[in-house]
Amino acid sequence: MNSKVFRSDFLVIGSGIAGLTFAIKASELGTVHLVTKKKDSDSNTNYAQGGIASVLAPDDSIESHIADTLKTGAGLCNEDAVRMIVENGPSRIAELSEWGTRFSMKKDSAGKDVFDLGREGGHSKNRIVHARDLTGQEVERALLEKISTIRNITIFEDHTAVDLLTEHQLGLDHERAQKTCYGAYIMENSSGDIHSFIAPITMLASGGVGQIYQHTTNPEIATGDGIAMAYRAGALVADMEFIQFHPTSLYHKGGGRSFLISEAVRGEGAILTTISGKRFMEGIHPMKELAPRDIVARTIDSELKKSGEKYVLLDISFKGEAFLRNRFPAIFQKCLDEGIDISKDPIPVVPAAHYLCGGIITDRFGRSSIKNLFVSGESACTGVHGANRLASNSLLEGIVFSHSAAEYLRTHPEILKSRDALPEFPLWNKEGTFDLEEWILIQHNKEDVKRLMWDYVGIVRTNLRLQRAQRRIKFLAEEIYDYYRRSTLTLELVELRNLVTVAGLIIEGALHRKESRGLHHNTDYPDAKDEYCANIILCAQTRPLLKKHREIDIRW
Ligand SMILES: Cc1cc2nc3c(=O)[nH]c(=O)nc-3n(C[C@H](O)[C@H](O)[C@H](O)COP(=O)(O)OP(=O)(O)OC[C@H]3O[C@@H](n4cnc5c(N)ncnc54)[C@H](O)[C@@H]3O)c2cc1C
Repeated sequence: MNSKVFRSDFLVIGSGIAGLTFAIKASELGTVHLVTKKKDSDSNTNYAQGGIASVLAPDDSIESHIADTLKTGAGLCNEDAVRMIVENGPSRIAELSEWGTRFSMKKDSAGKDVFDLGREGGHSKNRIVHARDLTGQEVERALLEKISTIRNITIFEDHTAVDLLTEHQLGLDHERAQKTCYGAYIMENSSGDIHSFIAPITMLASGGVGQIYQHTTNPEIATGDGIAMAYRAGALVADMEFIQFHPTSLYHKGGGRSFLISEAVRGEGAILTTISGKRFMEGIHPMKELAPRDIVARTIDSELKKSGEKYVLLDISFKGEAFLRNRFPAIFQKCLDEGIDISKDPIPVVPAAHYLCGGIITDRFGRSSIKNLFVSGESACTGVHGANRLASNSLLEGIVFSHSAAEYLRTHPEILKSRDALPEFPLWNKEGTFDLEEWILIQHNKEDVKRLMWDYVGIVRTNLRLQRAQRRIKFLAEEIYDYYRRSTLTLELVELRNLVTVAGLIIEGALHRKESRGLHHNTDYPDAKDEYCANIILCAQTRPLLKKHREIDIRW
């Protein structure tokens, strides 16, 4: 074991839109170490298709975007947070363009180049800035290219954050009311060596949790590491029960990541039918196929349960090949590879786990309840999404909050000065651990967690299924934590430990929400109730701190 100590002004964990944006801005203030557990572009961001919501059309307004977001959030959004991302949207989009992102453009009636704004579910106007159906990939490319020109930023690929450094590692965790974060233990995947990355400021931008579910649109990196690490360190976490299932992922018989059929396809007029041709969204919601995602996903789930069929159909063939190839090149090609010509045939689709609305509670500057630990992007619970996310608000949330965190630090230079007085942390101690020989045990545990979450904590929940899930996850967690204590760390083991922790948090949040609201639908409590509209907050130390409102924890 060859443990080293790395020091910088900022430690950024994650290379999606939130981590990269923050790194660019923080590099103007000091040195940045950015760690990412696979290749630099491996992120949910890279797969985002639809785009970024922002008020840019002459017939649109800030108030309209705010109203759409609040309505979708089902009474749980923090209106200040929503206003902040909506008002900041146009400047952040302009900045992404300045940094080299090539969004799709068109000519307006006066012949001027303007953004080609798409429409998605729950939005009352066209406001989705996109780069055809490869928006995330284009943003990621532009941000990484920009970073490659900045000397203050060092990227460490294939480096996995294992745990945050706080007073806990010094044996002082009970001495201070508010803990401080000083960096993280980071594993070099190739050697298994665990290094101490020390910094006065840590930005956690490690993304979502989709891999907890058997069917997900998320890539393999989305294992909830940041949320689990922050929770273990004592940070407040909230709204974990609100998992968004995307209604339309491409149906395929095998396992693996489910390919997303973007909401923008329905935005262009695609129609959902059963295999026998019934258009089932009519009569369910006035916006039909463009109803909010939870409603479309639940309706598909119910149609599939009624019919016993494996998928429903999404038809956009009436738009013609030339349009579809240009507007949705990735979707067109992927479907063609699967033997479906979308200009002639409907697409077989099923729902899949897609996005986590909850996460680590932060304030308007991305500050968590642990001092000097900032969080941005899908790992954060900023209050923007409430009980349900409005389409294309998440990339926006990531860039706005990363910007806001950097601006806060620009105006508080004293935080950076604390680097000269950071404590010495013990090097990682792997004494008493052994190389895990039975890889199959990890693989089976992972499959068990994913299947359990899909079957019992999915789109439609019941008390019985949630209680059963809780009993089983506790058993699995004990087994996995035991391996973890005894084994030399690997990426798979680190991820498995985090998966089971976050699965437990989702179940706990779901069990305590005795109503149906937004993305959380429990048939034992089919209606929303006033007394449950507060956020459900979970914290390792004071757990469970239930039914307390965000205002007790957050300094908006
Ligand atoms: C298929 C798909 C389509 C989507 N389409 C849209 C859309 O059109 N519009 C929209 O607004 N949103 C969309 N979303 C959601 C959006 O992409 C994500 O919410 C957003 O990209 C999250 O950004 P992030 O920076 O927080 O995390 P990510 O982009 O997921 O980045 C997380 C980073 O953290 C790294 N990481 C994780 N754990 C560790 C660890 N332990 N150590 C080190 N590094 C770690 C990962 O490797 C990765 O680099 C989509 C998501 C998916 C999956």
